[in-house]
Amino acid sequence: MEAGGSSGWSDLNNPADSPGSPGLGARPDPLRGCGKGSSRILSDLRVTLPAGDWQASVDDPCNPGETATSERSYDYLIVGCGLYGATFARLATDAGLRCVVIDKRPHLGGNCHTENRHGINVHTYGAHIFHTSNRAVWDFVHRFAEFNSYINSPKALSSGRLYSLPFNMNTFHELWQVRTPEQARARIEEQRFRGEPSNLEEQALSLVGSDIYNTLIRDYTKKQWGRHPRELPAFIIKRLPLRFTFNNNYFNDRYQGIPIGGYTAMFERILEGIEVRLHTDYFENRGLFDSLARRVVYTGCIDEFFGHCHGQLEYRSLEFEHDVHDHENHQGNAVVNYCDDSVSYTRTIEHKHFENSQSDVTVVTREYPKDCTSGRIPYYPVNNERNQKTYNHYKERAASMPSHIFGGRLSEYKYMDMHVVIEAAMNRFRTECKQPALVTAAS
Ligand code: FAD
Repeated sequence: MEAGGSSGWSDLNNPADSPGSPGLGARPDPLRGCGKGSSRILSDLRVTLPAGDWQASVDDPCNPGETATSERSYDYLIVGCGLYGATFARLATDAGLRCVVIDKRPHLGGNCHTENRHGINVHTYGAHIFHTSNRAVWDFVHRFAEFNSYINSPKALSSGRLYSLPFNMNTFHELWQVRTPEQARARIEEQRFRGEPSNLEEQALSLVGSDIYNTLIRDYTKKQWGRHPRELPAFIIKRLPLRFTFNNNYFNDRYQGIPIGGYTAMFERILEGIEVRLHTDYFENRGLFDSLARRVVYTGCIDEFFGHCHGQLEYRSLEFEHDVHDHENHQGNAVVNYCDDSVSYTRTIEHKHFENSQSDVTVVTREYPKDCTSGRIPYYPVNNERNQKTYNHYKERAASMPSHIFGGRLSEYKYMDMHVVIEAAMNRFRTECKQPALVTAAS
């Protein structure tokens, strides 16, 4: 086994993803030399600027003013090369508008980024499985990638035993050896918490009963949120779907799969012909960047945009440790959840199973939830009452800036699956074009 450290790329997910940080920053730019020729990274964005705008700056981040430049080089400056930014850039470019995309990271794709290692597309920021019931979204991604027929069926490990996810008849059989939906319902019913749930533990107990909670939820949740479920509010879990069929498909959506060749290749195609500038932080000179374009699409943290003037929004972060194992198949499944507290990670991902990649070795990633301390990447918003109130202040400010569009998971401060982000970007662009919104498909 080659440990992550000795393989030289254990820093792949080093949260300090600033340019020049070990791991991410040191790697070559994914677009450079990709041979497609139509996506460009400007070596120096300044060449496109009118000289007078070079000094532009904004003093009060809470009240950033519009730069009074009459001739702009672009229609849209897009901050963030994740799914929201890339989708918006594609749609605007297709409509004949001029876009430039900047990202402070050294790669395309935001959190969807993949990197080829040993012939395996590694999901750099955690497992990403595409699923949607929205035909327009599915058609959109199919313009840029062929999708395989991968179905997500994670396994859960607890006290040395494997269980099926999501909670379905296979899980109930594994837990209690029951064989019929009626028997399973009866087992759950007899264990349910009957009062008004006052915390997450009671909420989970009232939804699924004590066996499922104690075996598969309690310790996992403790690791995920860094606190015992008794100390967490009930509303974090609104529902815990129980499926009374033998069906291990994690998602209910109509369409599901993984882009063949990885997400980064898909982003290269989405961004074909669009100017992209990596290693470029908007806050290094926001006045300058604002002056480039008629409108700014901002997909970074909304509290950072306003200089945290209403306080900092809380997130949970993650750390990833990658191992390259010197054998073909390590865990027999792409995703395994670790549901007891014998280990501090929550999941292991064996990436080759997403695309059935052929390789003599295999790459396995351990996922460790962490507090989002300085330098770490914000992943999951902590949508409690206090943060929501803080976010609402920022949202109000954002609404009073007609030259800026705020979109994506960091700007809207909510967890969004990929198809939700694409749909949101599509709808935002439709609003720009004064077209009616797409009908949201239930998923
Ligand atoms: P991001 O991908 O975060 O892109 C925002 C970009 O903005 C980043 O690249 C960032 O570097 C850049 N940026 C921020 N600030 C600045 C700045 N100041 N200057 C320049 N650039 C800046 N969804 C699914 O549908 N299926 C899954 O299986 C799935 N798994 C997930 C697993 C994990 C662990 C996580 C955290 C999320 C998962 N998601 C999944 C959700 C998915 O990652 C998001 O829907 C998607 O990445 C959001 O895209 P985005 O463009 O909003 O944000």
